Amino acid sequence: MTFLVLLGAPGAGKGTQAPILADRLGLPHVATGDLFRLAVHEGSAVGLEARRYMERGQLVPDSITVKMLLDRLAQPDAGGGAILDGFPRNLAQADILATALAERGSAVGVALEIEVPEAELVRRLSGRWICQANGHVYNESSHPPRVAGLCDLDGSTLIQREDDRRETVAARLAAQLSALREVVGYYRERGLLRTIDGLRPAAEVTEGLLAAARGAVGPGARSSEAKGRVG
Ligand SMILES: [Zn+2]
Repeated sequence: MTFLVLLGAPGAGKGTQAPILADRLGLPHVATGDLFRLAVHEGSAVGLEARRYMERGQLVPDSITVKMLLDRLAQPDAGGGAILDGFPRNLAQADILATALAERGSAVGVALEIEVPEAELVRRLSGRWICQANGHVYNESSHPPRVAGLCDLDGSTLIQREDDRRETVAARLAAQLSALREVVGYYRERGLLRTIDGLRPAAEVTEGLLAAARGAVGPGARSSEAKGRVG
């Protein structure tokens, strides 16, 4: 079994890379955020429990997150392993995951970190502007309006939400990065960490991740080429 942990700050490109890796490696992409939404949507026992915390604006306790994750990993499609996204988020979760996988005679094979400098993350995350009239969304770096401050489509004024302001983004990111660095350190100490430069173009990041994944877990992880897929 091949369990990969994908690590990266918000804005590092994890959301783009995870589904591509899943496809190329033939492993399911298991994102804890998706599991929460699905469990709540389905109204499962664990979903209802999770929702009680979410409605109060509290973090869902590790015990609930782990139960949901292990249920997911027990599904047949995860029999050969999975790409874990959004878990572990802290040292306690990393330990819980190691114990839970060990009970199944398995382990994390590699932790892949997409590394992007903090200043660049702030730049990527804080450039969001929204058109006042119709909610059209722009981004200073990836999708700027033709005329600064005005919507291309209806000419209305672009505004920035408090959440998207540079100072707000920087403060929130600092907290998230401190937990991420602990998890990165955890896997580094165990010789499981591979770091990929997230400043490179997305396609190169993908190749870097794939090379690191295959190098660490060996030929057990099948590529899409090996499955004979075309295109
Ligand atoms: Zn507009």
